[in-house]
Amino acid sequence: MIKKVLIANRGEIALRVIRTCKELGIKSVAVFSQADADSLHVRFADEAVCIGPPDSARSYLNIPNIMTAAEITGVDAIHPGYGFLAENVYFAHICNDCGVKFIGPPGDVIRLMGDKSAARETARKAGVPIIPGTEERFSSNEELMDACESIGYPLIIKASAGGGGKGMRVVESPEFLFKAYQQAASEAQSAFGNDRVYIEKYLQQVRHVEFQILGDEHGNVIHLGERDCSIQRRHQKLIEEAPCPVLTPRLRQEMGRAAVKFARAVGYTNAGTIEFLLTPEGKFYFMEMNTRIQVEHPITEEITGVNLVKEQIRIASGLEMKHKKSFNTCFGHAIECRINAEDSVTFQPVPGLIRNCHFPGGLGVRVDTAIYPGYRVQPFYDSMLAKLIVHAEDRDEAIARMLRALGEFEIEGIPTTIDFHQRVFRDPVFTSGRYDVGFLVGWDHRQITSQTAHT
Ligand code: ADP
Repeated sequence: MIKKVLIANRGEIALRVIRTCKELGIKSVAVFSQADADSLHVRFADEAVCIGPPDSARSYLNIPNIMTAAEITGVDAIHPGYGFLAENVYFAHICNDCGVKFIGPPGDVIRLMGDKSAARETARKAGVPIIPGTEERFSSNEELMDACESIGYPLIIKASAGGGGKGMRVVESPEFLFKAYQQAASEAQSAFGNDRVYIEKYLQQVRHVEFQILGDEHGNVIHLGERDCSIQRRHQKLIEEAPCPVLTPRLRQEMGRAAVKFARAVGYTNAGTIEFLLTPEGKFYFMEMNTRIQVEHPITEEITGVNLVKEQIRIASGLEMKHKKSFNTCFGHAIECRINAEDSVTFQPVPGLIRNCHFPGGLGVRVDTAIYPGYRVQPFYDSMLAKLIVHAEDRDEAIARMLRALGEFEIEGIPTTIDFHQRVFRDPVFTSGRYDVGFLVGWDHRQITSQTAHT
């Protein structure tokens, strides 16, 4: 069993991993930038090492400094969390080459899934449905135009090395094609150092439904049910729920089976997520695989009772995972919302000092956060302050609990998205469960119209 883990991350996920290490009797080492010296992950880890200045390129992304910290503290494993180096092939290889177990899948699997065109191709070969589209590189504009004509508009152009919604462009009709193609390629080049893009049909009224996977080094692969992550802004998740409110048991089995088949086909081990788009007719298509723990993993933990970080550490230790059968049935309903330090109208990040804060509690309420009264939100990192997770017997109770918990959540000193979430959980389209990834498009307009109608 792994005995000492360095957590190459910060914020709530670093704390999340430290907590599990403590429960497993494993020593933990935090790394931190100069801006994070007063952070909770530094306070609660057994040891902490400063790895550089605030700028993440020189600290949380600084592989030599992190490996040096691993060396001097004598850890036998590194947990990368999410973001930063979590899906960095070189980092995974360097860890393993240095005799420090990378808590995640093998580097080669990260490489394969990091190339989204290659992942699509792998899904196709494994017999998992993919969104109609093409990964071809085009030598002329005519060829590109012809290929797009046969896929049919609207289209979405995506970066092969993409993530975080960067390098994506929706194209409504042929006259916008070349410009969008160039823009997507150059955005991809500057964000990922790779200008390759691929094209998919832009599906309408779809839901983002993803399956949590666990695989161990003994050949066991299971799914732990799905999460619906359709409440998005600019293709980025804001609210997630599990199970998906419209999935039938039969479709869950079918999609879950496809997810497990895909994970097996790539030789997947550790925790991962397979993302699908689901159409109103119940057709589903593979979108991509994330080879790390996800921000939204707690809702799966709530409905399955499985501690995913514990399973990650056990699997990385070479142990068999605890559960050998997929979770086609789960307990109750869980919802997560991401509370960000943002203006709730413009969604612009607003860093600053949290003068005071109070977290909700009570039955079925979980708050994963690293903030505290007097904490200063730094401008250098992600604007997420907390994840509020509720679990209840059914969806209606989970929504009522979420609204109750949001009402108790107080953060003073900076603007947050708490009131935005309150409005979403009162929206009849959300409460009906019949929403899709376009839910927030034109939402403010809808809100204003319905408020006017009531006055
Ligand atoms: P990223 O990895 O950059 O977050 P994804 O490929 O996961 O990008 O897509 C993010 C979101 O973009 C999806 O959840 C969905 O809302 C939208 N999206 C992506 N591809 C399509 C598509 N072909 N049709 C419709 N919406 C799409």
